[in-house]
Amino acid sequence: MNSPCPICGLGRHPSWAPITPNQLTLELNELLTVASAFVPRRKAHLIWHHPLDEEHRDSCRRYAQVIPGLLQFEVSEAILYLDRPHRRGLLAHEVGHCIAPNEGESGADRAALRVLGTKIDYDARWPGKGLQVIW
Ligand SMILES: [Zn+2]
Ligand SMILES: [Zn+2]
Repeated sequence: MNSPCPICGLGRHPSWAPITPNQLTLELNELLTVASAFVPRRKAHLIWHHPLDEEHRDSCRRYAQVIPGLLQFEVSEAILYLDRPHRRGLLAHEVGHCIAPNEGESGADRAALRVLGTKIDYDARWPGKGLQVIW
């Protein structure tokens, strides 16, 4: 069952029946548990960051960002409408930033591979460098 992303509009990228915020929290905590030896021992915060909704409307690859020192994951509601392979890619990338906070964008992906064992690819159907995905 396809349901359109309510932020950026109809049919711009594959979207599926949305997951619940609880499910998103669960998936994030699963990754953080795997990475627990490499991230500061502190509870993660998942924040619904409304400015990101605005940014997502203008640039549909903007879904999430993280403040590694606070383990604060800021997401747009649009992330709930992503299919699982892209959602996993995004979350693994953000957790990668927490593992390697000073190593930039490709460093986050390398950290995800090293610690989570997940190879992050980029789906070119999204603009710019594409959207993170774990196929
Ligand atoms: Zn969207
Ligand atoms: Zn990043």
